[in-house]
Amino acid sequence: MTAAGPRVASVRTTLVDLPLRRPHQFRDSTMEAQAVLLVRVTTGDGVVGVGEGVVPGGPWWGGESVETMQVVVDRYLAPLAVGADLGRLPELRGRMDRLVAANPFAKCALETAMWDAWARTLGLPLHALLGGRCRDVLPVTWAIGAADPDVVVEEALARIESGGHASIKLKMGALEPAADTARVEKIASSLAQVTSVRVDLNGAWDELTATRLLPRLEQAGIDLVEQPTPAWDVEALARLCALLRIPVMADESLGSDHDALTLAARRAADVFSLKIGKSGGYLATRRIAAVAQAAGIPCHGGTGIESSLGTLAGAHLLATLPAVTWGSELFGPLLMTDGLLTEPLDYRDGALHLPDGPGLGIDLDEDRVARYARR
Ligand code: MG
Repeated sequence: MTAAGPRVASVRTTLVDLPLRRPHQFRDSTMEAQAVLLVRVTTGDGVVGVGEGVVPGGPWWGGESVETMQVVVDRYLAPLAVGADLGRLPELRGRMDRLVAANPFAKCALETAMWDAWARTLGLPLHALLGGRCRDVLPVTWAIGAADPDVVVEEALARIESGGHASIKLKMGALEPAADTARVEKIASSLAQVTSVRVDLNGAWDELTATRLLPRLEQAGIDLVEQPTPAWDVEALARLCALLRIPVMADESLGSDHDALTLAARRAADVFSLKIGKSGGYLATRRIAAVAQAAGIPCHGGTGIESSLGTLAGAHLLATLPAVTWGSELFGPLLMTDGLLTEPLDYRDGALHLPDGPGLGIDLDEDRVARYARR
């Protein structure tokens, strides 16, 4: 006899828009609110698991948006999931990849909702179902969009003071490269003695520009550079890793476990940025972390600016991965004026503290969902 787990009875999707405390500026777009695809999976026993699909402000990052995720989940993935045994998630996840190529953010939203439903059925915290914790708290870097030096310095100092954040990440790429470098040099002259300052270029520079200008940022006291060159240019990343003494982190270049293997073999990243969304959920992200651990590459918990729901979904996995020794940037909920859960997350001393209840550990608040649902 085969032991069966709970079965998926229904999948429901809802689009919500969560207001931000301030606009967040990327190279070519500015986020005024964060759109979230909420996925609710109900089992035959009536247990509800929740998952979230977000991208940082729109489809520029990886081609998906919350609207595309909703279509992919409703039209293609939900019919596959309904009736599926949650005790056989890896098998179902393989079928999802065979039915729908790419679309990792949509798959992650559904996959994590199913994990949550299974964990709630078993009465276990997600981190326990995922294999057990190696840490209880995740340090959180505060991230600031591309803004003028005085605005950035003021916000950074305020967040260090009020939130205890031990590092700051700056978005780059919105200005012409030399002017952007001068902007960050000015910021670093005020902040590099106070805190660890990192930069994220989101692949904005070509290799020649990066080779010319990144040594200036290193000289200015920047501690880490994330994805300076385009996602496809792994050889450029390898040469920049060799050139710079500060670590180079791969984000857009790292989607799958195959990418992880290539980056590790080419020594094209000193640090990996893990995000369950870009990699399509827990199972794929866990394989990436295993490659990182085997190659001696430390990992960092990246963000797509998730709400408290998606942030917790990511944090539960990150807490179980030994390779995640470079903290996180799970600051999304702190940028929003509200979330979709019954309680705010526990941020203290610049770190996110994980709850211990079943599943995510905090419940969905239906009143909040109704308030922010898109009409
Ligand atoms: Mg990034």
